[in-house]
Amino acid sequence: MTDDQIIFGPPPDTPELACATLNVDLKVLQDNWRRLAADTKPAICAATIKGDGYGLGLEPVARALASAGCSTFFVALPHEGAVLRSVLPSADIYVLNGLLAKSAPCYADHQLLPVLGSLDEINEWSDYCAATGQRLACALHIDTGINRLGLSAADVEELAAIPQSLGIIGVRLVMSHLSNGDDPGAEMNREQLDEFNRLRALLPQAPASIANSPGCFLGPDFALDMVRPGIGLYGGNPFSSRPNPMSPVVRLYAPILQVRDVAPGEAVGYGASWQAGRQSRVAVLGVGYRDGYPRALSYPAHDGPAHVMIGGHYAPVVGRVSMDMITVDVTDISPDFARRGINAEIMGDHVTVDDIARWANTIPYEILTHLGSRYARLYSPFDLE
Ligand SMILES: *Cc1c(COP(=O)(O)O)cnc(C)c1O
Repeated sequence: MTDDQIIFGPPPDTPELACATLNVDLKVLQDNWRRLAADTKPAICAATIKGDGYGLGLEPVARALASAGCSTFFVALPHEGAVLRSVLPSADIYVLNGLLAKSAPCYADHQLLPVLGSLDEINEWSDYCAATGQRLACALHIDTGINRLGLSAADVEELAAIPQSLGIIGVRLVMSHLSNGDDPGAEMNREQLDEFNRLRALLPQAPASIANSPGCFLGPDFALDMVRPGIGLYGGNPFSSRPNPMSPVVRLYAPILQVRDVAPGEAVGYGASWQAGRQSRVAVLGVGYRDGYPRALSYPAHDGPAHVMIGGHYAPVVGRVSMDMITVDVTDISPDFARRGINAEIMGDHVTVDDIARWANTIPYEILTHLGSRYARLYSPFDLE
């Protein structure tokens, strides 16, 4: 490289050129999976890794889970499935968004298992099986009340009345999806399970699955033959109003770029929305909404103020979240910690992904899947297969 060359391209190859650092602890990811697998035995514990492994990186997440013993994966899109296939040549890969129209050959090429959720999809898969003389595996998705994807009760009854309409497709799994799993007390969970059990009894026998992460905590009736957790693996709280039983996988740090004195009455940030009530010191951190730090965390956030941690002390966010930076009040933190170059914990053990989600009035799924692309991404431990 010569002096006039500039390194373009994102981290992690050049962590010293990145600003903030995203640390993904693959060991904790594996421990979270092992914990859910142990709790739901003898059900098979699959892993839902759609959305680029919930924003953490499809490939490292898939490799770590596979080396912990996971062999069944759920993605949303066939493209995600094709990428995953190149990483894990022998895994079972289910595609939750179903069979995209006219794409059967592409699923077959990559040995992807479409989760068929309508009679049209079943017909298309069955026609492709007939045309190529193969009994290709798939899952059947039964809707039991969420009214998104899935066969209706009438569809299932129609299939039951004309079993030959399944053709020679290989039904490897029958599944449904809970709409209120995050609330373990919701009556709808049991209603959906009962309806699922009623409808799947009408179809040829196949292993069954209804549990997402919160469903893993609803007992053996819900574990059935396979569970397919997502958010819990990545450390997000599966529940909306219970303590989080999972361990944090993601740690996000951003450096202090500058600390400045702000006199009483002076404002900070766009819109001058926060004014110092006393002689203050404000630290500017190198992370912003482009990095997935929600703009909704601008002062005063929902149920806030939002905060970060610097040197063991919480520092509240003041002013608005900008594209590339945030400002936090460090008046009460020693300048030994609150100084240029020191990393603040933006998300991790003390400021959880669930805290950030709450301040943004959203769910941890959205926070993780919106993590930006400019971080130096460090996966630890590095020696994982
Ligand atoms: C996303 C998804 C899951 C995983 O859900 P979590 O709540 O993240 O555990 C399981 N099943 C289906 C059908 C999904 O769409």
